[in-house]
Amino acid sequence: DLLVVGSANADLVIGVERRPAAGETVLGSDLAVHPGGKGANQAVAAARLGARTALLARVGDDAHGRLLLDAQRAAGVDTTGVLVGGAPTGVALITVDPSGDNSIVVSPGANARLTPEDVRAAAGLVAASRVVSAQLEVPLETVAEAVRHLAPGSRFVLNPSPPRPLPQELLEACDPLIVNEHEAKVILGGAEAGGTPEDWARALLARGPRSVVVTLGAEGALVASAEGLARVPSVKVDAVDTTGAGDAFAAALAWRLGAGADLAEAAAYAARVGAAAVTKPGAQESYPTAQEVERLCCA
Ligand code: ADP
Repeated sequence: DLLVVGSANADLVIGVERRPAAGETVLGSDLAVHPGGKGANQAVAAARLGARTALLARVGDDAHGRLLLDAQRAAGVDTTGVLVGGAPTGVALITVDPSGDNSIVVSPGANARLTPEDVRAAAGLVAASRVVSAQLEVPLETVAEAVRHLAPGSRFVLNPSPPRPLPQELLEACDPLIVNEHEAKVILGGAEAGGTPEDWARALLARGPRSVVVTLGAEGALVASAEGLARVPSVKVDAVDTTGAGDAFAAALAWRLGAGADLAEAAAYAARVGAAAVTKPGAQESYPTAQEVERLCCA
């Protein structure tokens, strides 16, 4: 039902007293290795909620790739579209200091080798999906190719992260384009990046997507389409770790849209999923089941 096209990374995390300056060596905590990457996160988030989910991605023929595949399978994701080999698995090297500030180096590795040809070879998987959800940690032309294989009537959802200018063909396919504040500003650029979230939503909608969602962290979100603008309230929770909240939000939204919900309903559900995700540390490890989302709403 839902196909996620995107990245899979191993997140290698070391806690440090102080992040090192140029030429400096510091000692840190034991290494923690977590499955991550926006595509892999989205697929796990959707599957954990109960969505029938497949992932189209590329990992290396290495231990990190196996960790990622195991995490997908444990969540119930269909991994027949996960290609193996061609480069080492993508890695994010993360140092975190006691205040929670981090420094991150990403090696895209196999993610950069997910090609338009790979998408053409998986055209059946794309065409069989009611919703395709993508991000930009894989090449832009790979994402654009996925759009070309959508079945009539199916829906394309894009979180343009990390943000960059988008070709018109891709913008016009988005229903919705999902951005946080930073992504909205980069995509709008220049003068239009000023103003309120409502202003960004209207300006983004004018660029061509069929709908837009602006996520606002603890403030919830904003949805915009031809039918107008609406605020989506956030759910009050004690935030422990916001890592991967945006990925959970996007996955939940895509799944609900595919199940026939309208944009405002789907975003309200996604906001509950995002809120649940921030109540636990980590990304994939923090994603709720549908029952946990229900309990959150009624607490
Ligand atoms: P990103 O991680 O991409 O920057 P956001 O921080 O906007 O995305 O989070 C995505 C969604 O998760 C928000 O729209 C909101 O619904 C939910 N969320 C994030 N942080 C919180 C929080 N502190 N409290 C409640 N909900 C949150």
